[in-house]
Amino acid sequence: MKTQQSKTLFDKAQQYLVGGVNSPVRAFKSVGGTPIFIEKGNGSKIFDVDGNAYVDFVQAYGPMILGHNNETVTKQVTSALQDGYAFGATNEKEVQLAQIVCETFETIDKVRFVNSGTEAVFSAIRLARAYTGKDKIIKFSGCYHGHADTLLVAAGSGLATFNMPSSDGVPQDAVKHTLIAEYNNIESVKTVIENNKGQIAALIIEPIAGNMGCVLPSPQFIQALQQVAKGNQILIIVDEVMTGFRSKFGGAQDLIGLKADITTFGKIIGGGFPVGAYGARDEIMQKVAPLGNMYQAGTLSGNPISMACGIATLQTLQQSNPYPQFEKHGAFLEKAFYESAEKYGVSVQVNRFGSMLTPFFTAEKVVDFTSASKANTEQFSTFFWAMMEKGIFLPPSQFESWFLSAVMTDEDLEQTKLAIDYAMEQVAKAHF
Ligand SMILES: *Cc1c(COP(=O)(O)O)cnc(C)c1O
Repeated sequence: MKTQQSKTLFDKAQQYLVGGVNSPVRAFKSVGGTPIFIEKGNGSKIFDVDGNAYVDFVQAYGPMILGHNNETVTKQVTSALQDGYAFGATNEKEVQLAQIVCETFETIDKVRFVNSGTEAVFSAIRLARAYTGKDKIIKFSGCYHGHADTLLVAAGSGLATFNMPSSDGVPQDAVKHTLIAEYNNIESVKTVIENNKGQIAALIIEPIAGNMGCVLPSPQFIQALQQVAKGNQILIIVDEVMTGFRSKFGGAQDLIGLKADITTFGKIIGGGFPVGAYGARDEIMQKVAPLGNMYQAGTLSGNPISMACGIATLQTLQQSNPYPQFEKHGAFLEKAFYESAEKYGVSVQVNRFGSMLTPFFTAEKVVDFTSASKANTEQFSTFFWAMMEKGIFLPPSQFESWFLSAVMTDEDLEQTKLAIDYAMEQVAKAHF
């Protein structure tokens, strides 16, 4: 695997960008080695500056569910560009994308577009507080909801359990209203509520967790959560930034039977351009300015180019319905993992849901942040670089979800299966 050009560019990047990147995971810290620089993407593949081709399981961390350079999407974005980029007044495309979201989600009457998932989530929290008149929120350990101060607690890394900020620069005061519960553990939720009676505005949850690796909630947990929230007048914010339109045309909330009061979006609804959104029933959304007194605004919110990309992406998804294929491809990869793991005596747990999948290098079932943290990250690093060598691009961290794209071919899947077998052998050789 040639990396000379990436190395040269990374050296230069480090001179001008913090750590050579604009988002930390791109620096490959947890797997070591030189991060690759991408030149272009097409279909299921990306190509780096050294001419290496990779089947792409990162998908820009989610948005590129149709693969890269989708013909329809590119055409519509290119056409939108001819009409100008931003106006500071409403454009019809904003209404079109909003209509798609509202008509697809039973729990949403109105939507507000913003520019990222982070923005969507912190606005949704503000809305929940405005609507309920209460301040506290519950978040689950290992779930990530963007980098707003209030939510940088137990956010999928190190410092879990108590509401200690997991970033320097976040005042203790900013997280004092953030209460932490454990995923898949209803007792932990009840305890938190018991200790903060009548003060909790909302709980926020990833309906399928993706930011500690892929972790599924049990049906009993979801059912109990719904009941407990309702019984205590606590709003449920379902953070679908990762899961929205990913495993069905709609939300993971429909698939797991969780009824959201407020839903947040990002990633896929922008198709690769910066878009986030939050939506809810009328009664709640009426709190938002200009209808209500909860202020939230954005110079580039509803940007026509981003909207065009989102509309084209969602329409293509709806028409092509890749969802049954994701299930087939996911099952194929799961089988490949377990077969190779058994062959070489490596312990692996594969968690998957629709187009999301994570192989955890551990013998124990992964159901929450504590069990995810037991995965062997050194084995993962060996695995990661062996996969890269064989032309498979994965998220460079054990605690991320891989994403399938609609354009992956049987050939891509076969190549991935062979790579898994090779990488698993390298893991067995390096760690005994
Ligand atoms: C990615 C993500 C976010 C943050 O979105 P950004 O666009 O990166 O700000 C929030 N919540 C979840 C569940 C995510 O996966």
